[in-house]
Amino acid sequence: MSSATLAPSPTAQVPLLIGGRLEPSASDRRGEVFNPSTGRVQAEVPFCTAAEIDRAVRSAAAALPAWAETPAVERARVLFRFRELLQARFEDLAALVTREHGKTIAEARAEMQRGVEMVEFACGIPSLLMGQALENLAPAVDCETSRHPVGVCVGITPFNFPSMVPLWMFPVAIVCGNTFVLKPSEKVPLSAMKLGELLLEAGLPPGVFNIVHGDKAAVDALLTHPLVRAVSFVGSTGVARYIYATGTAHGKRVQAAGGAKNHLIIMPDANLDQAVQALQTSAFGCAGERCMAGSVAVPVGPIADALVEGLCRAGRAMKVGPTDGGAAVDMGPLVTRAHREKVAAYLDVARGEGADLALDGRAFDLPRDGFLLGPSVVDRVRPDMRLAREEIFGPVLSVVRTADLDEALALGRRCEYGNGASIFTRSGWAAREFKRRFNAGMIGVNVGVPAPMAWFPFTGWNQSFFGDLHIQGAEGVQFYTQQKMTLTRWFRSASESHADPIWKTKPDGA
Ligand code: NAD
Repeated sequence: MSSATLAPSPTAQVPLLIGGRLEPSASDRRGEVFNPSTGRVQAEVPFCTAAEIDRAVRSAAAALPAWAETPAVERARVLFRFRELLQARFEDLAALVTREHGKTIAEARAEMQRGVEMVEFACGIPSLLMGQALENLAPAVDCETSRHPVGVCVGITPFNFPSMVPLWMFPVAIVCGNTFVLKPSEKVPLSAMKLGELLLEAGLPPGVFNIVHGDKAAVDALLTHPLVRAVSFVGSTGVARYIYATGTAHGKRVQAAGGAKNHLIIMPDANLDQAVQALQTSAFGCAGERCMAGSVAVPVGPIADALVEGLCRAGRAMKVGPTDGGAAVDMGPLVTRAHREKVAAYLDVARGEGADLALDGRAFDLPRDGFLLGPSVVDRVRPDMRLAREEIFGPVLSVVRTADLDEALALGRRCEYGNGASIFTRSGWAAREFKRRFNAGMIGVNVGVPAPMAWFPFTGWNQSFFGDLHIQGAEGVQFYTQQKMTLTRWFRSASESHADPIWKTKPDGA
């Protein structure tokens, strides 16, 4: 890869983590890790060789028997120590997220907090590993179920939450008794490496957690490896669909979370100021690089003009700038220059399709080094336009005006995605109708980003999720375990029933 902004000095090389050791890669294929605030390359990430991927999987497979045999409470204790280390290094970890992703430090802290909560959830998993039992299913026959690890699990993660999304996966998998190979996004591998180091410091045995790097080639090697039993994926819909199809075709269980186009419905009775503030945070928070970002505002009836005016005013007032210099800003850069250009190009698409660029993020006066783009509001978008249909994954809010609630609900039915949707209203009836009928898996009422906490499943629908068991909560534990049913029948032996009265029993109360 080449870049005009490539740093002239030798660049830090991101290592692999295999069998408890950090090691350099032998690969000659590499990618660049930018600091999006400055536009400079801060590290080079190797795209692992097939032999390195194989070694990482074999190291996880070798560590599996002893780890699966370790009592669940002891496995959880390692995660308790890991949680303490995350707390102790919280500020450094948040700063690292900001440095490699570009989100503001407040957003990075929020990401870390969600990640710590996943670890706290994982610490309590032993109680979710308990099975069920039914005694005397038939005379002298008892039935019970127990939960067991699946085996070697793989995680493939996106760029937009460098810490949190890996933390959605491996803490749960590990406490369930599995071993793990993580392939973080090649755009943001630094936070994942730090998490790996802290796991070792917490006392995790070598090989239980491994990290490899790369692009499609690395992912394909993991997806088809005969020793891999389960694959968790989070990323864009096209890749999620591919991961699900390829992984299941190779006999793995797969959960694959994809992209999104989230609708925010504003009823005429909504509190306008509250709605504008929630929409601003939802659409422009993390520079719009969130799978739960509200990207389509849907005013219903006469509130539209005031809403668009409020959104433009709020967007114009946002302080946009580099996040890595300590200055207080509301919105940071996008992750790469290429992604910034792709997002900005949608504003030309909008104009070409006849929409109204009410606020143009390109018009902000911004430093040119980083990958900065101001917030945009595109009004009078029609449902058939690309801006209404495609995931842009940047600070661009499309406004689709509707006449009534039914028309707003219809937008959900025609959307190929189905992650989140919110309604802003004071009407319990409208909120109830919306909650029951909108075609998406995570619903908010007067909430801009209806993302669940660790204890609840992340229930994307439609093309936003491929698989059966979602990430997070009890479903996550089900994904990383397989059940065993045991049917037991005991006979009285001759000596127990006849020879010695000591073996005699009669029903209670008889
Ligand atoms: P991406 O799909 O480009 O990459 C995700 C991962 O897949 C990376 O590790 C990458 O190396 C790998 N990958 C990329 N192309 C591949 C290919 N052709 N074959 C195999 N592997 C490939 O996603 P991204 O740009 O890093 O992240 C943004 C996307 O993630 C958005 O679409 C966003 O909505 C989605 N996302 C979804 C959720 C959710 O819970 N549904 C959460 C966060 C992000």
